[in-house]
Amino acid sequence: MARFIFITGGVVSSLGKGLASAALGSLLQARGFSVRLRKLDPYLNVDPGTMSPFEHGEVFITDDGAETDLDLGHYERFTGVAARKTDSISSGRIYTTVLEKERRGDYLGKTIQVIPHVTNEIKDFIAIGEDEVDFMLCEIGGTVGDIEGLPFFEAIRQFSHDRPRGQCIYMHLTLLPYLAASGELKTKPTQHSVKEMQSIGLAPDILVCRSEHPIPEKEREKIALFCNVRKESVVAAYDLKSIYEAPLAYHEQGLDQAVLDAFEINPAPRPDLRVWRDVVDRIHNTDGEVNVAIVGKYTQLEDAYKSIKEALMHGGMANRVKVNVSWVDAEVFDSEDAAPYLAGYHAILVPGGFGERGTEGKIKAAQYARENNIPYLGICLGMQMAVIEAARNVAGLSSAGSEEFDHEAGKKRFEPVVYHLKEWVQGNAKVSRSADDNKGGTMRLGAYDATLQPGSKVAQIYGSNAIEERHRHRYEVDIAYKDKLEAAGMRFSGMSPDGRLPEIVEWTDHPWFIGVQFHPELKSKPFNPHPLFKDFVRAAKEHSRLV
Ligand code: GLN
Repeated sequence: MARFIFITGGVVSSLGKGLASAALGSLLQARGFSVRLRKLDPYLNVDPGTMSPFEHGEVFITDDGAETDLDLGHYERFTGVAARKTDSISSGRIYTTVLEKERRGDYLGKTIQVIPHVTNEIKDFIAIGEDEVDFMLCEIGGTVGDIEGLPFFEAIRQFSHDRPRGQCIYMHLTLLPYLAASGELKTKPTQHSVKEMQSIGLAPDILVCRSEHPIPEKEREKIALFCNVRKESVVAAYDLKSIYEAPLAYHEQGLDQAVLDAFEINPAPRPDLRVWRDVVDRIHNTDGEVNVAIVGKYTQLEDAYKSIKEALMHGGMANRVKVNVSWVDAEVFDSEDAAPYLAGYHAILVPGGFGERGTEGKIKAAQYARENNIPYLGICLGMQMAVIEAARNVAGLSSAGSEEFDHEAGKKRFEPVVYHLKEWVQGNAKVSRSADDNKGGTMRLGAYDATLQPGSKVAQIYGSNAIEERHRHRYEVDIAYKDKLEAAGMRFSGMSPDGRLPEIVEWTDHPWFIGVQFHPELKSKPFNPHPLFKDFVRAAKEHSRLV
């Protein structure tokens, strides 16, 4: 039977609730407990899959094919526990389920209401798989007081009310602003935020207070008294240089101890924090730096490529180098020479993306990397662009392009080297799509196997000929062009097990040029860097010594 920790936020958004939840998960693991983390999002989208990366940052994909909130990426990176479809839920999904049930007549003629129908649905969701772990950590998106969040807050109140005493606790994140004029940390916003919670029947057991300055003992006592928590349960969260310092920092501030105390787990098992000490040591003790250009479209919002940035950091840790990431907007050199924008980087990464805007620039980035022997990693759209570049500039197919762009433009301009995939197999089942399907949830999503060619660069890097990676795309490189491209020197070194879908391409006469149809960044961890990112950064380090 799991114990439940509900994590909420107040005062302002962006306090790092996801990170605090993930770090707490890792600390509980370090004490020998099993954990699962869950995100409950009050927005009305059914999932973030249809939201622009500018709106909501990256969409994180699970093995079982769900398009989820990027916080699930944090959870995985800190705990190593693979997230599932059932670890991310939104109001939109809850209401869709409730309304489907209503249409089916499942409610037997009852009037459908937020309480109990919506709240019951949320409670059922929270409890899924509770027997599998010691702790279930559920983070509620947004801040207390948001209108949209109310059914979730009500559901977690009822949840703990339904359960035996001591099975659930509430952890609330707040901000202690610093007033420079008076040189003080102010506790009032925290007090108000807790009052707001109390007014809906929730009483936090633990307060995590974000602060830029050390919290004096006196202020801690005041918060404890006014917010009705124990003094030891007022935990400070200071700004950190790296997010991977969070587990050790929270441990030093007593967060995991406070949680175990709140559950009366006594004596508490001692934590083994060696993994995190090693991670932090690798971040701080580096030998050299590499400069990597991420040539993309959503470059104004770094969160749009969150997992890629983190995976590059992990690659840096594995090689003990500092990785400096530069965000280069591909559109800027759509119709210009790319060289002035890309010169000097030790590696180029073209990430995933949707739509035609900026793709000519990405194709030029692939060409620049190929011609100048610069390590190149193309992810999803970045692989498709590398293949189009090869087709146009090496295999002589000057009008090569992707059906995605013709589809968008409503006219045929390109030879479809990358085409709209309408049928594929998943396990033993056939999956079909049509051109006018809904946008939401209809891509090739989730984990798929790939077979690697023995002796290829990727087989060496993975140390295996069979891999499983996560996908999220509608379009695919057309196998019909394989022979032409291979004759030009591009090796199709990874294929779907049925040999129909190209999963990986690499240039044989290039030091490091790899395109992958999947998203390796989603599986990288600081304590277990993804092999492709580890080797990409190694290649960048090698290149940096040559230039
Ligand atoms: N837009 C491309 C497709 O749908 C690539 C998707 C991606 O990069 N994730 O196939």
